[in-house]
Amino acid sequence: MKGKPLAERIRAAVAEQVTQIGRIGLVTVLVGDDPASDVYIRLKHKAAIAAGFDATDLRLPEETTEVELLAKLADLNVSDDVDAILVQLPLPDHFDEARIIRAVTPSKDVDGFHPLNAGELYLGRPALVSATPRGIMALLAEHRISVDGARAVVIGRSAIVGKPVSMLLQQANATVTLCHSHTRDLARHTLEADVLVVAAGVPMLVTREMVRAGSVVVDVGMNHTEAGLVGDVDPGAAEIAAFMTPVPGGVGPMTIACLLENAVQCARYRRGELAYPG
Ligand code: NAP
Repeated sequence: MKGKPLAERIRAAVAEQVTQIGRIGLVTVLVGDDPASDVYIRLKHKAAIAAGFDATDLRLPEETTEVELLAKLADLNVSDDVDAILVQLPLPDHFDEARIIRAVTPSKDVDGFHPLNAGELYLGRPALVSATPRGIMALLAEHRISVDGARAVVIGRSAIVGKPVSMLLQQANATVTLCHSHTRDLARHTLEADVLVVAAGVPMLVTREMVRAGSVVVDVGMNHTEAGLVGDVDPGAAEIAAFMTPVPGGVGPMTIACLLENAVQCARYRRGELAYPG
C-alpha cells in the first residue's frame, strides 16, 4: 500500500486549488535546532513551495521565551497574509506545549492540534484534522478497503496519531480497540484485527506472527536506527497481510500531502468559502 502515488495526486490537486484561490500563506515555526524537526520542516516546505504556497520558514533560537513565542503567534493569528500556522513539535523543554497549541487561532491550526479542532473530531464533527490520521484514512479508501463493520486495532494513543485515527475509524463504522504500553497480551488484540494501525515508535513491535492472515496493516512508525529508517512492524508481515504500507514511502508522503490539503482548508475558512464551526 504505497503512499507516494496517491500523495502525488493530492499534491497536484492542491497545486490547482492554490492557483484558483490565488495566494495561500503558510507559516511554519521551528524553535531551536532539533535535527529531526529540521528535516521534517524542510520536507514540508519543499512540498508547500512545489504546490505554489507562499511558505515562510520561521526559525527562532532555542533561547526564545514562551512570552516571545506567544507574541509572535498573536501577530500571525491576526495577519491577513497568513492562512495557516504550524508550530513544529516537540518544543524545547521550557515551553508549555499545550499552552502554545492553544495560542494558535483554531481556523489557522493546520495541524488540527488545537483543543477546539481535537474536540470537534471527538464529537464527530471534524473540522481541521491532523494530517497523519487523514492520510491513513485516504490510503484505506484509495485501496477500497472497507472499514465499515471491520475490527480495527490501533497501537498508540498519542494526540497526533493514535487517538485521532481511532476516532476516524470509529466514525467510519469500524469497531475500534485502542492499545498502548499498558495493554496486556498485545498479540491477542492484533491477531483479531481486520485493520491494524501501528503508531508506537518501537521498531519491530509487531512481528509477522502478530498479524492476521489477509488483514490490512498500516505502519506509521518512523524510527531512525543503525539499519536506517524503519517502521514499527516487521516488513516480513507483508507476506501475511493482504495490504501493508512500506516504511519509508507509506504513511509519510500522505502526511505531507494531507497537511497541504489542510492549508487549503484554512485558506477557505479565512476567505469565508467554508464556515469554521462557531
Ligand atoms: P508517541 O507520542 O511517543 O506515542 C506512542 C504511543 O505508543 C503511546 O501511546 C504509547 O503508549 C504507545 N506505545 C509505546 N510503546 C508501546 C508498546 N511497547 N506497546 C504498545 N504501545 C506502545 O508517538 P507518536 O507521535 O504517536 O508517533 C508514533 C510513531 O509514529 C513514531 O515512530 C513517529 O515517528 C511516527 N510518526 C510518523 C508519522 C508519519 O508521517 N509517518 C507522523 C507522526 C508520527 P502510552 O500512551 O501508554 O505511553
